[in-house]
Amino acid sequence: MIIGMKTGASEDEINTVVEKVKSYGWDVQMNIGTEKTVIAVLGSNTGQVSTDIFEVLPGVETVTRIMKPYKLASREVKATNTKVPLDGFEIGGKRIIVMAGPCAVESEEQLMEAAGLVKEAGASVLRGGAFKPRTSPFSFQGLEEKGLELLQQAKEKFGMPVVTEIVDVGDVDAVSETADILQVGSRNMQNFALLTAVGKSKRPVVLKRGFSCTVTEWLTAADYLLAGGNKGVILCERGIRTFEDSIRFSMDITAVPVIKKYSHLPVIVDPSHAAGHYSLVPAIAKAAIAAGADGLLIEVHPNPEEALVDGLQSLTPVKFAKLMKELKGIAESVGRTI
Ligand code: PEP
Ligand code: MN
Repeated sequence: MIIGMKTGASEDEINTVVEKVKSYGWDVQMNIGTEKTVIAVLGSNTGQVSTDIFEVLPGVETVTRIMKPYKLASREVKATNTKVPLDGFEIGGKRIIVMAGPCAVESEEQLMEAAGLVKEAGASVLRGGAFKPRTSPFSFQGLEEKGLELLQQAKEKFGMPVVTEIVDVGDVDAVSETADILQVGSRNMQNFALLTAVGKSKRPVVLKRGFSCTVTEWLTAADYLLAGGNKGVILCERGIRTFEDSIRFSMDITAVPVIKKYSHLPVIVDPSHAAGHYSLVPAIAKAAIAAGADGLLIEVHPNPEEALVDGLQSLTPVKFAKLMKELKGIAESVGRTI
């Protein structure tokens, strides 16, 4: 339920509404705009009471029920686009933010080389997995703590924020120390214990779409992060499973305008995991920008043929630099910069 206060509603009037909400055992999330305050009422049985109990209170303008399963991620709760601030830039603003780097942190040499090259080509955030959720237990699982140390070194050396995946509830604090942005992977999109833990972190979080999940399920998962108080939720479309087998996952490009329509959250696109092959990455990346994505997450490896994970879909630094140049024109054509 959303309670919209009148323009100029007093603090007392707002407090009275909040107290009334709490008297039912529900929670509130406040959206204090320049003109109006909007109060989101959060509780499992809000549908069982009449909206009149709030509508009669002084200072209340509207009381609306949100019929969609997701609440906090919806545009009803927040009409304006959310911008996630990082050091020196924001995600969800006019500028398209590119996060790039290897799928996995493999060695100091590999990560430092990748970081230098992606930065030079114009990426703003370095990606690299320290903990890798692999389909097979026999595949490389990441360097774990050592990987975090290397990410820390790279971030200090190149002055670049880093995004890295979190796979275990118990690692949230340790990963949050190094990661400027936490990544919740596709396979964990509905790991509600992990979402709850990450929701309490102060770090922004990239929430990848589960490859078998609908947009509604994805936004409802985002609610877990927002309900925990995390204000930096960034959605990432990375391809979904369909009957089509000529590509690793089908890039649901329509998810970008659909998200923009129903949610205030920024949305980025990962063309690499959908493509499964480096040759398809540039076209998908361009389509994402044209469709209105706020950023890209791209796998780049100094020597893809030697990569321990996802080498086939990784761009070489030369191909990445070429793509970054090509993206400029597309960004400009949709009123963005890169
Ligand atoms: C990744 O970004 O390296 C990754 C594992 O992605 P996804 O969760 O989308 O498969
Ligand atoms: Mn990967």
